[in-house]
Amino acid sequence: MTAPVRTQGSPETRGSPETRGSQELIRAEEPVLAHNYHPLPVVVARAEGTWVEDVEGRRYLDLLAGYSALNFGHRHPALVEAAHRQLDRLTLTSRAFHHDRLAEFAERLAALTGLDMVLPMNTGAEAVESAVKVARKWAYDVKGVPDGRATIVVAADNFHGRTTTIVSFSTDETARQGFGPFTPGFRIVPYNDLTALEAAVDETTAAVLIEPIQGEAGVIIPDDGYLTGVRELTRRKGCLFIADEIQSGLGRTGGTLAVEHESVVPDVVLLGKALGGGIVPVSAVVARREVLAVLRPGEHGSTFGGNPLAAAVGTAVVELLETGEFQQRATELGATLRDGLTELVGKGVVGFRSRGLWAGVDIDPALGTGREVSERLMREGVLVKDTHGSTIRLAPPLTITSEELVEALATLERVLR
Ligand SMILES: *Cc1c(COP(=O)(O)O)cnc(C)c1O
Repeated sequence: MTAPVRTQGSPETRGSPETRGSQELIRAEEPVLAHNYHPLPVVVARAEGTWVEDVEGRRYLDLLAGYSALNFGHRHPALVEAAHRQLDRLTLTSRAFHHDRLAEFAERLAALTGLDMVLPMNTGAEAVESAVKVARKWAYDVKGVPDGRATIVVAADNFHGRTTTIVSFSTDETARQGFGPFTPGFRIVPYNDLTALEAAVDETTAAVLIEPIQGEAGVIIPDDGYLTGVRELTRRKGCLFIADEIQSGLGRTGGTLAVEHESVVPDVVLLGKALGGGIVPVSAVVARREVLAVLRPGEHGSTFGGNPLAAAVGTAVVELLETGEFQQRATELGATLRDGLTELVGKGVVGFRSRGLWAGVDIDPALGTGREVSERLMREGVLVKDTHGSTIRLAPPLTITSEELVEALATLERVLR
């Protein structure tokens, strides 16, 4: 590595990144980056495992883990090695040709989820979009819904991504306002309400699309029996059950999938985020054969979907999950997280919901907004993200040690005093 160039010139001189401090880099983003995010004022320069380091060398425990894209921590050695090996061999073919990494990725991912077939895509939103198309096509080709009439039933307060079609069935006005006209064909019912779901599903319904736990909404966990009810209802009414496990899946809740908590097998499972190991975007629609079989050549695609680098990293991710080690860590450390948060109830925390290494923590509004608490935690060396109002979300890498977790909870206790 060459030594960074130290600039001592005029204020106009643009130094190499290494010479610009956090404040300067934050200011530099302002005029040239779209303002669709409001990041915490921390500028990360390197990371390993559970820890990130900023431009000035300050270290932070990462308790957001890229919204669960970093379930295995930053730069997990097995994932980095898989990526390096593939970078030196083959990175892209497009699906115009076969490549030698795709079959194994699909075989092992299907086996891991207990389903049959895989449609590889890149981002989570693309997996959701693809599932919407597949469900509609299944409704017309298999179920016999009259063309153009298929409906998909979704839950209020959902988060499934940011495309035009996906925000069409969002109930978050900030996500929708100014982006219409919207895609028709969606019905929205309250989450965790089987009676409302039953009333919304009819002979036009292609699928019910829900998150087994609503992450962005504040880690909202449905009542026991809800997922079983959705499975029973969709089977009885003859429509598909699509589980968006993009944030809840791949070890986060203590199972490979969050639906395992009720031993439910959906018809379609959507994966993303952690499937790319925090290295490359990798997403997938994983489904029963009868469902994905509706797609014929030319009807759907993606230039980068299932590319060799993505398949190599995705296979390495599946390999990590095949041992069950991370699911077990999430379960065991999840108990530590739950116990620690229970201790904080009444001491700045008004309530929380958790499953595995995932928690939505409602802070006493008198102590500040979720944003303010996140900033205080940042100054104390812990990174989290607020969701709504005074709720913060904790989702540490599943590689976190119990000492680190206890340290983070002690920090939370301190900033809430
Ligand atoms: C993040 C997320 C998505 C969208 O994924 P992107 O990769 O950001 O497009 C979809 N569904 C859920 C549940 C998510 O958490």
